[in-house]
This record gives sequence, structure tokens and C-alpha cells, in this order.
Amino acid sequence: MAVTAAGAAPDQTKTVVAELVPLASRLRYSQLLRLGMALTILVLAATVPQVLGGYLRSLAPVTLAYLGVAAIGELGARLLPRRSLLVIFGLLLIVDGAWLAYLTYLTGGAYSQVRYLMIIHITGVTLLASYRTGLKVALWQTLLLYGIYNAQQAGSISSSNLKVTGLAGSEGDRLAFFIAALWLATVGVAVFSAVNERELRRRQWDLEALHTMALELETVTGPDEVGSTLLQAVTTIFDFPRGVVLGGDGSRRVLAAHGLDVIPEALPRSDLLTSVSERRKVALLAQDEVRDDATVATLLPQVEHLVVVPLVAEGKVQGTLLVEHALRAGSRIERRVVNAVERFGAYAALALRNAVLLEQVQRLAATDGLTAIANRRTFEATLERELARAQRHAEPVSLVLLDIDHFKVLNDTYGHVAGDEVLRNVAAALACECREFDTAARYGGEEFAVILPGCSAAEALEAAERFRRIVADAPAEVPITASAGVATFPDHARDAEHLVRITDDALYAAKRTGRNRSTAATAPRVSAVGDPGT
Ligand code: GH3
Ligand code: MG
Ligand code: MG
Repeated sequence: MAVTAAGAAPDQTKTVVAELVPLASRLRYSQLLRLGMALTILVLAATVPQVLGGYLRSLAPVTLAYLGVAAIGELGARLLPRRSLLVIFGLLLIVDGAWLAYLTYLTGGAYSQVRYLMIIHITGVTLLASYRTGLKVALWQTLLLYGIYNAQQAGSISSSNLKVTGLAGSEGDRLAFFIAALWLATVGVAVFSAVNERELRRRQWDLEALHTMALELETVTGPDEVGSTLLQAVTTIFDFPRGVVLGGDGSRRVLAAHGLDVIPEALPRSDLLTSVSERRKVALLAQDEVRDDATVATLLPQVEHLVVVPLVAEGKVQGTLLVEHALRAGSRIERRVVNAVERFGAYAALALRNAVLLEQVQRLAATDGLTAIANRRTFEATLERELARAQRHAEPVSLVLLDIDHFKVLNDTYGHVAGDEVLRNVAAALACECREFDTAARYGGEEFAVILPGCSAAEALEAAERFRRIVADAPAEVPITASAGVATFPDHARDAEHLVRITDDALYAAKRTGRNRSTAATAPRVSAVGDPGT
């Protein structure tokens, strides 16, 4: 079982979380705010100067100058390199504060109605830039207001032009009240926008992580790799302490594991996982719901909170993702996490389905349809590979070619169906008799080949005899015998093609000298061992 550990964290620092709203757009919106504020001041000063406490002739020049600076900022943003945007954005915020403060000064200081524009400005900035910038601008405006108040106290600002009368409270009280209102508005907007911003950033982060995983999945080939890619992504992002991806028939094969002490070879059937798979929906399970399930208990002993995600692609369950969620007492897993894990699962499910299909296609291309052992193509590739390896390690590789005797007669007597059955039995017997690193293949028709890495000529002859006997002795309705030819690299041949030819010659010699025997290629002669000819 190839289980891939999903422990290592991917290099997330490389994944730069892009800005939610690009700086250029934020600058554009802040310019609109400026234009809106300036026009409001000009219109109010022209139409109701008594309310504003200032007149067009005093407010217009400074407001037009302010618009001029904003226009220069705009020009700079368009002409200068992109990295200057942040500086321009910040400078314009300082200019805003100065303009608002100067207007306040012109229109009556602590009594000025312009102060309400400050609240609008600060709300806009907090929403447009960030809550941090909003707080900084609030501080800047507080300082400016305080400066104006001091100037007023020193007598350099006169409030005699105010048309608003009958208001209670000293100038200091009124200013303090306004500053409190300013901060209340700023902190309120800052908190709400921070909450939204955090949520948006998290979602963006999840999406980017999903995108990264999707890119990684494009390059993986096997189901195990898909499992470990999925598990690595979700355990890293959501900090799940343990997790496992099951795949294969009935999700009883471990494809990948994270944080597990032991990875079991085979898993018992799980009614719990089967029922979750049938519902095709993510299940959040608590300890008392999973305690009795043998599979869960084997994989994740003492798990308290489990998230089970069926990996469904094209209406079929391709596997199951199980992750342990470390919760504090009384808290619940966030909906966002569940949704995100579900999305990760859906992506991986498609990749898993493709990987399984690819594996099936590869298996079909490599195996013989009738006998389900390696086919001629696989045989040739394996032989080349083994010879190359043998050469590197200076080891022998032997080849046995085994041909069923008088198979044509068998076919003619008992029929092709019986002949097929004999071929299947012979293949199964050979595969069973092989060592783990041997390769039994159907070479063609009723001829089989066995590659024996590390086997000397003498050992190969013994093996060939064993194969021949196993084939002949196998309980079958139709009795058969077989002949075998054996040759060894590098003793008898210099390459794969040569080895096959020499082995075939040896097989031919076995046939010629009476069949039901094994013949080894010898240099320069061939020697035969075996039962009396048939
Ligand atoms: P020899 O002892 O010299 O090997 O004689 P033979 O009859 O075994 O060899 P021959 O090459 O004359 O015949 C091979 C036969 O194998 C002919 C062919 O019909 C049969 N055969 C090849 N492939 C299959 C198969 O997939 N299924 C069945 N039932 N028969 C097959
Ligand atoms: Mg034959
Ligand atoms: Mg033959």
C-alpha cells in the first residue's frame, strides 16, 4: 500500500493574498468623495451661507485649491509608476484633513457645520482604505480640531460670523462632544468594516488555496497522490490535527494520512461511512456518534469531532475525506470551514476519478485481457528494464519461455472455451509460483514468459522445471503438458532481443527433443532435462 504522508506544510508565504479592492480603484473612489465634498461645500456656501457660517468668497478659493491638489494627485496616479499610488493615496488623505480643518477654521471653529463632513469623510476613508487608516485619519482630524480650538481660545479665530445662536455649552464642551461623535463613528465603521474585511480575506485565502490545490492536482497522477494533495491542503489551511483520505472500493483503502499513529493495511467495513456516502453530504459527527464505528476507531482513536466529506464526482462516491476538528468545548465548527472543505473535496473527487480511470486504462494497457497477467508489451518493457538494472549491478537475469504442448489438438478436441480456461489456469499457476520481483507474462497464444531477475542459469532451469510441473500437475479437466526454454543474461545473450531469441531456440530444442521438458541454452550447446517425450 502506498500511503503518502501529508505532513509537510506547503510554502504558503508564496501565496500572496491580493488586495480585496485594488489600490487604483480605491484612489478613484476617494477622488469621487473629494469631488462630492467640495461641490457640497461650494453649493452650500453659495445657497445657504448663513447655515455654513462662511461665505462663498472665503470658502471657494480654498476649496478650488483643494480640488486642484486632488487633480494633481490624480495626474500623478496616472503618470507615475504604480508603486507611487500608496504615497499619493496617503498624501491626499492628509490634504483632506487639512482642507476640512481649514474650512472648520473659516466657518466658526467648534461651531462649524463642516464638522459633519469630517464624519462623512472618515466613514468613507475607513470603508475605502482600511480600519487602520480610518483610525489614523480620525487621530489626524482630532489633532487638527484641537489645534483650531486652541487658536479659538487664543482669540485668533472669531466665531462672530456664526449665525447659529441659542446653543448651550461652551466651545470646549461642544468640541469634545463632536470629537467623541467622530471617534464613535470611526470606531463603529472600523469594527464593521474590519469584520467584513476579515471575512472577505479569509474567503479569498480559501479560494486561493483551492486554486493552488487545483493546480497541484493537475500534475498528480495516482489516487494516492490526489489523496495526499487534498489532505495536505485542508490540514494546513484549517489546522486539522488528524485526517485521512480513503479511496478504492467501498472507501476501504487508505490513500493518504496525516497525524495518524498507525496506518492500517485493511479497514473493516463501516456502516457509518457507507451511510454518509449514500447521503452524499458532509457530516459533522461528535464522539458519541463515531465511538462504535470500527473503521473510525481504527483510524482516528478517541476522535472527538469528526468531519466526513464524501468525495463525489459524476454522481459516484470516489472516496472519503475524514478530518478531526479540534474544537474548544461548547464551540461549533465554522460554516465557512465546512463549505470550504466541501469545495476542496469536490475538486479532489474529480481528480480522484480521473486518477482511478487513468490507473484502469494503464492496467488494461499493461495486462492481457484473457489471463489478466502482464501482456507482451509489459513483458518487453520489463525485460529491457531488468537487463539494464542487471548490467548496473552485475547480476544475471534469466528468462523462461513456456509453451503448452499440442494445444491445437486440445482446442480441436475440447473447444476454444476449454482452451481459454486452460490458458487462464496456466497463467494463474505461473503468477502464483513467481517470486515478488519475477514477472510472468503471456508472450502470445499459448506461450508464456517468466522473467527471473537475479537468477543464475542453473537456478532458472530449476525454476522452469517447477513451472512446467506446476502447469502439468494443476488439477484440470483437460490434462496438459508444457515445454520450456531457458536462457540467462549475460551468459547466453547480450541484449533483450538476443535473450528472447536464444530462449526461443532452447524452447524449440525442448519441443524437438520430445516436449514436456525444459531446455537450457548453453554456450555453445543446449542441454535438456525433463520427463519422457510426448
Ligand atoms: P506444440 O506442442 O508444437 O506447441 O503444438 P501446439 O498445437 O501447442 O502449437 P501450435 O502453434 O500449432 O498451436 C497453437 C494453438 O494455440 C493454435 C491456436 O488456435 C491456439 N491459441 C492461440 N491463442 C489462443 C487463445 O487465446 N485461446 C485459445 N483457446 N486458443 C488459442
Ligand atoms: Mg504449443
Ligand atoms: Mg506456440
